[in-house]
Parts: sequence; structure tokens; C-alpha cells
Amino acid sequence: MTPRISGTTKILGVMGYPVTYSLSPVMHNRALEHLGLDYVYVPLPVPMEQFSVAIRGLFACESIMGFNLTIPHKQEILPYLVDMTPLARTVGAVNTVKRSEKGWVGTNTDVDGFIYPLQSSKLQLQKAVILGSGGAAKAVIVGCQKLGIQNITAVGRSLDKLEILGQQFNIHICPWAQLDQALENIDLLVNCTPVGMDNQSPLTPGQIAQLPPTTIVYDLLYTPRPTPLLHMAETRGLTTIDGLQMLLYQGALAFTYWLGVEAPIAVMAEALAIPHKS
Ligand code: NAP
Repeated sequence: MTPRISGTTKILGVMGYPVTYSLSPVMHNRALEHLGLDYVYVPLPVPMEQFSVAIRGLFACESIMGFNLTIPHKQEILPYLVDMTPLARTVGAVNTVKRSEKGWVGTNTDVDGFIYPLQSSKLQLQKAVILGSGGAAKAVIVGCQKLGIQNITAVGRSLDKLEILGQQFNIHICPWAQLDQALENIDLLVNCTPVGMDNQSPLTPGQIAQLPPTTIVYDLLYTPRPTPLLHMAETRGLTTIDGLQMLLYQGALAFTYWLGVEAPIAVMAEALAIPHKS
């Protein structure tokens, strides 16, 4: 087989710490190959203390055209950007950057990636609880507001961060210790923390039992599959959505942002082994 990488190959990637679990390389490389583009997509593991030097170093390397950002870097990137889209500015977090003449520019494709699997929901969603207060939680809050959800509560372990979120988005906040009260009469629960990758669940079995029977339980994680949270919710007969749908749609939007072409979304879905309705 002819090697795909040559002297002209350009580079995309995903920067985070850790990134070993990420399925973005599989999804994007399949799409790049399908369209015959002279690009590769690689993992870029960067610990927080090396972030500044990595961002500058990646810009110095002219074949690096853009990358995704994941935990814990979606907010750290903001001071390093020369520009960002209005949506990214509203969210206050960036998950996709691309090279411009003057430096990195960014956008946020998590918002619409999050919304996509919920658009087919026939239910009128009115009350949502978001677990977490990081970059993904901010995108999910903006996504919930775009969906017209009126009553949104962010639940987290840092009161300082929650207070900033409450003011920024005009939503309710709740410390983790009072989660039981926040779960009353909800329509949508979204886990935006990494709790689940370690085989823990952010909700106890008792809290799952307390959810209304029409609750949609949405976990941004996709490893393990199902996550402990979704496993318990499925066992209770609740509607569940895992992070692979969001990964697909945020990835397709990032692909178009970098390359200016329509993403081959069916090919990307096939790479993730998930169904896709065109
Ligand atoms: P982040 O900015 O670092 O935020 C992580 C959040 O989780 C913070 O609020 C953090 O609380 C909280 N947290 C961490 N460990 C916790 C624990 N043991 N108990 C309670 N809360 C805890 O990361 P992010 O970018 O928002 O990403 C969050 C997760 O979503 C990641 O696992 C990421 O892979 C996933 N994600 C998936 C997709 C997708 O397409 N499927 C898209 C975006 C994100 P503190 O602030 O108190 O530390």
C-alpha cells in the first residue's frame, strides 16, 4: 500500500490530557482518507503545565493547520487566540482552532454537536440539570438555551466556578451536596464531568430511581460504553444518549471549519460504529 504521509502532508489533531481514550483520530482519519485529502489527524497529549509552550510551538510548525481541544484545555486556550467566533465568545470556551496568518483562531462546535441528537426529541424540554462547570458544561448550557429550555441548573463541586456560571448565563446553580433537590421534576440530565471513565457514576442508584420516568439522561462520555450512568438509566427504562453522537456532530462541524468542505458524516459515523440517518 502506498504510504499516505508524504513531504506535503498537513496535520490536524486533538489536544488534551489525557487523549488516549479519544475516538477523534479514528473518525477524522477515515473522513480525510475518504475524501483523498493530504492530511492526517493525530493525538496531541499536552499536560497543563506545558500548554503555553505547546500552543506557541504548534503554531511555529507550519504543517499544523488546526486542532480540537478537550479536557482540560477548552478554556485555557482563550488568551492565546487572535480571534474567535461570536458563538465561542458567548460560550467562553473553544474546542476547535485553526491557523490564520496572525495566529490561532477558534470556534465552538460542541454547542451544535450537543444539540443534534436532541433535535429529534418530540418532548418539550423545560427543566435541565447539567453536571460540571468546565468548558463542555458551558457549551451544553448554551445548547440548552438554544433549545429554549427555561429552567437550567448547573451542579458542581466548586462554588466559585458555579457562581461565575450562574452570572454568565443567568441560570440556577447548586453545590453537589444538594443534587437531590436539583433533580426534582427534570426533563434532561447531562453529565459534563469525566466521572464515568473511571467506572464510577456521578449519580447514585437512589438518585437515578428518583428521576421522573420521562427524563432523558445524556452522558458526554463514551468510554466505557455504556457509561455506568447510562447503564443505570437504561436499566430503569429511561431514554439515554451517549457522547458518540455529540462527538460525531461536533467533529463534522470542526472538519468543515478546518477544510471548508462538507464532512462525509456517514463515513465518520461508520468509523465510530454508530448509526447515522442522512
Ligand atoms: P473541564 O473543562 O476540565 O471540566 C471538567 C468538569 O468536571 C469540571 O467542572 C470539574 O470540576 C468536573 N469534575 C472533574 N472531576 C470531577 C469529579 N470527580 N467529581 C465531580 N466533578 C468533577 O473538561 P471539559 O472539557 O468540560 O470536558 C468534560 C468531559 O466531557 C470530558 O470527559 C470530555 O471528554 C467530555 N466531552 C465529550 C464531548 C463529546 O463530543 N462527546 C465533548 C466535550 C466534552 P472542577 O472544576 O471542580 O475541577
